[in-house]
Amino acid sequence: MKILNKGFNYSQDGPGNRLVYHLQGCNFACKWCSNADSIPKNNPKANDVSVAELFDEICRSRMMFFDGGGVTFTGGEATLQADELIELLKLLNANNISTCIETNGSSPRLTEIAQYVDYLIVDMKHFDDDEHKKWTGAPLENVKHNIAALLDSGRQMHVRIPVINGVNVNPTAFAEFFAKQNTANAVFEFLAYHEYGKDKWQGKYQIENGFVSDETIKEFISVFESFGLRTVST
Ligand code: SF4
Repeated sequence: MKILNKGFNYSQDGPGNRLVYHLQGCNFACKWCSNADSIPKNNPKANDVSVAELFDEICRSRMMFFDGGGVTFTGGEATLQADELIELLKLLNANNISTCIETNGSSPRLTEIAQYVDYLIVDMKHFDDDEHKKWTGAPLENVKHNIAALLDSGRQMHVRIPVINGVNVNPTAFAEFFAKQNTANAVFEFLAYHEYGKDKWQGKYQIENGFVSDETIKEFISVFESFGLRTVST
């Protein structure tokens, strides 16, 4: 598998203390991406590591998986390496190691992959098809289809919405989509825009004035809760 980097993180990439792998390659090109170096399919900084090597490394890290922790695969877009990811997830499942993926939700194989994932985090970056394409370079249709299918199956899901001034500040439009689904086991989180990865764009960063206020995030929470949707903050 192509791995750009790895490290431990507590609570923000799934429950507990987790070993987080950033996989190389993404099929989106979000104009605010904080991991722009993870977007190309190939990157000389990424390491090729076999499933067996990764499994061994994860097993050796097991002592660190406290507070319900485990392993998280993110990106880039982890589902682009679906075959190897599924092989590794199956090994982790068989060895009772908690698994999590963070995904942009677009993979045609997401429902298949999700069978082997204990904690599923799916982004939804826009509610409008044309605007989604404009800001991410990719269609929204697959994302909506996958989210609806996964929610309707009743599985646990953590949906994350990056809130960006001038891009997607319309909580009602998002909430109206989710309110039509089975959200009994879903939680929703709003991530205020940041510029942590701006330096990686080497002067070509594409968002201006993206910051939102605490009041905007509170408005998202309030609107979602008025639709009966559960919100969280990690
Ligand atoms: S989906 Fe995530 S990794 Fe891919 S371009 Fe967008 S923000 Fe970056």
